[in-house]
Amino acid sequence: MSLILRIALPAPVYGLFDYLPPANISVSKLQPGQRLLAPFGRTERCGILVEIADKTAIAPDRLRAARTVLDNTPLISAEHLEYLRWVAGYYHHPEGEVLLSALPTRLRKGKSPLVPRPDKVRLEETDTETLARLKQKAPRQWQLLNWLQTREGSAAMSDLRQQFDNLHGPLRALRDKGLISLCMADDCNSTRLEQPRFSLEPEQQQAVAAVASRQPAFGAFLLDGVTGSGKTEVYLQLALQVLDQGRNVLLLVPEISLTPQLIRRVEKRLPGPLAVLHSGRSDREREQAWLLAAKGQARMLLGTRSAVLAPLPNLGLVLVDEEHDSSYKQQEGFRYSARDMALVRARRANCPVVLGSATPSLESLKNAMDGRYTWLRLTRRAGNARKPSMQLLDIRNQRLRGGLSPLLLQALDQVLSQGRQAMVFLNRRGFAPVLTCYSCGWLSDCPRCDARQTLHYRQQKLICHHCGNERPLPEQCPGCGSPELHPLGQGTEQLEQVLQQEFPEHPLVRIDRDATSGKGSLDRLLEQARDGRASLLVGTQMLAKGHHFPGVALVGMVDVDGGLFGADFRAAERMAQLIIQVAGRAGRGEHPGRVLMQTRFPDHPLLQTLVNQDYAAFAREALRERKEADLPPYSYQALIRASATKAETAETFLHQAVALVEKQAGKEIQVWGPVPAPMQKRAGKYRAHLLLQTSERQLLKRFLRDFAPALPSLPDAGRVRWSVDVDPLDLY
Ligand code: ADP
Ligand code: ZN
Ligand code: ZN
Repeated sequence: MSLILRIALPAPVYGLFDYLPPANISVSKLQPGQRLLAPFGRTERCGILVEIADKTAIAPDRLRAARTVLDNTPLISAEHLEYLRWVAGYYHHPEGEVLLSALPTRLRKGKSPLVPRPDKVRLEETDTETLARLKQKAPRQWQLLNWLQTREGSAAMSDLRQQFDNLHGPLRALRDKGLISLCMADDCNSTRLEQPRFSLEPEQQQAVAAVASRQPAFGAFLLDGVTGSGKTEVYLQLALQVLDQGRNVLLLVPEISLTPQLIRRVEKRLPGPLAVLHSGRSDREREQAWLLAAKGQARMLLGTRSAVLAPLPNLGLVLVDEEHDSSYKQQEGFRYSARDMALVRARRANCPVVLGSATPSLESLKNAMDGRYTWLRLTRRAGNARKPSMQLLDIRNQRLRGGLSPLLLQALDQVLSQGRQAMVFLNRRGFAPVLTCYSCGWLSDCPRCDARQTLHYRQQKLICHHCGNERPLPEQCPGCGSPELHPLGQGTEQLEQVLQQEFPEHPLVRIDRDATSGKGSLDRLLEQARDGRASLLVGTQMLAKGHHFPGVALVGMVDVDGGLFGADFRAAERMAQLIIQVAGRAGRGEHPGRVLMQTRFPDHPLLQTLVNQDYAAFAREALRERKEADLPPYSYQALIRASATKAETAETFLHQAVALVEKQAGKEIQVWGPVPAPMQKRAGKYRAHLLLQTSERQLLKRFLRDFAPALPSLPDAGRVRWSVDVDPLDLY
């Protein structure tokens, strides 16, 4: 009797695929975690061997043989495979897609793993004479050496690539001259580690001690520390202890916090090798990092969302920075929460997990209140920094200039003329969110979405921020031909223009997705903000997250009203988090900071609570409201999404899903919908969804176990794009 290979293949189908072993392969060579090529329809796909079974439900004449085994040894360990399967099961996402999405791009496509190559550059001894000669003869080599010197003599190749184009020539020349050496992270880490220049504050010490006392077993901790209280310092101390014990550390951060500055801070303080997984890096760089982690050569893995799916054996500590950040939730395709999976991962590895934030999610706060997480508080800013003062600016009946009130402009003027830095925050990029015609009422609607196209003045374009659809800026009204079109509202591009006119003598940097699209440009701009070269910082939430700008004395928020009346029940929580995070950028150095928020609703309870009390007071109130309304975290949800070119098709499918719920479940499952999504049409597709809710997590889990696998058999399943979103974060 022949053995059956159960293979995970990337296909939108639940379950594994059964194959016979490839011809001419000794079955003893096969192990779960190896990749194979297998025939699939008329083509061939790369999959991962998951199980070796002795029977199959497939009829013998339909059973085919896998073609080639790609790996001599498993690419992922049995333990990691089990974890990924658990994740796929929890989210009811096809196992093949989950397993394959956990691999680097090339490996997913069946390529053989890269051979490790030097990923670090180290400066060798040099003298001023050589440098002077280089400066004259080979300015590019000289620039490179100079830059390395600012990095204390060593840097990751990927950082170099961010800074310099066409590196290859100058690098080789410098190496041939013996001025630099290229090495692997492993043997480069001989540099002496830096000690912190201060001792921990008592609250920091208590936090470190609490987590350390749980070592090496599982325990979940919420590190609830105000902005600037030294949470990162706590992570570093904990990581150092765990690394010293010979176990490895996983540190997750939100997308835009992963700056070269953070990487340097980690490298300087902790023994390596460090592997960094970041979407800003090339496929090859990511693969090198992934392999380093998978082979157990990296001691620490630092990465954004997807790093929670990367292998790292011998795990001793999991850290999640800014755990409330919504970038931890993947919002399309395989919709997982890296924060939640970090907990699962730590539990499976039996090690502590620390979730840190100045504005913890209500989910995590409730867990802390219920005693499921140990609640660690840092209530004071570290060092000499003091809490910023927050104040509302009532802009009703005010004459605004580019959205800015006279009071805010005055305050900016004052701070800037004292030679200090100021930051102006608006969570809307572009010049204006709408272009309109006063004569006929024409609006810059997106042809593919229920949304407006944003005016981008510098690019002379109208661009939809939801689907990317764009067109040239019309010279006259497309509706009536009137030559006068007017922008409505403001975006960061307009703010930049207005502020430059108001304060022409103060250098300004704008930080948003448009201004930072070039390679390395975000880091360059952040550098100018940090070192004080720019005195005015303008930006979207990219500016708000985790960055440390010691010189900022004033933060102005142009519009805090947008989030006050959102349709989503999480809108208030997000707005409160954003306000506190933005405010937290002020006064992180020696001088106290001030925060001014423009609003037309100065009496709004959310604003009042944040200004007169704090985030904790807001969170208590918000949790009380959620409890009353029976909303998460007091209930558990799954969202069934469907989209189609016709609105009826999507809704018909969801009605079939409702019938299925009624057949399979009793009253324990509450059903809301189907309803059209808040933005019904997006990128030319009509979207609808169905919300399922229960009072207990186990009820939802048990129900989905039968329900999700039955969805593909619904009559209209093939006519729509549908997905299951477990623990949805937004209802768009
Ligand atoms: P958070 O992550 O909570 O925003 P960080 O860890 O980045 O805070 O710390 C903010 C600043 O305070 C950093 O410049 C850090 O070096 C400094 N810092 C942290 N802990 C201490 C301490 N115990 N004493 C003095 N300064 C500290
Ligand atoms: Zn018109
Ligand atoms: Zn659009």
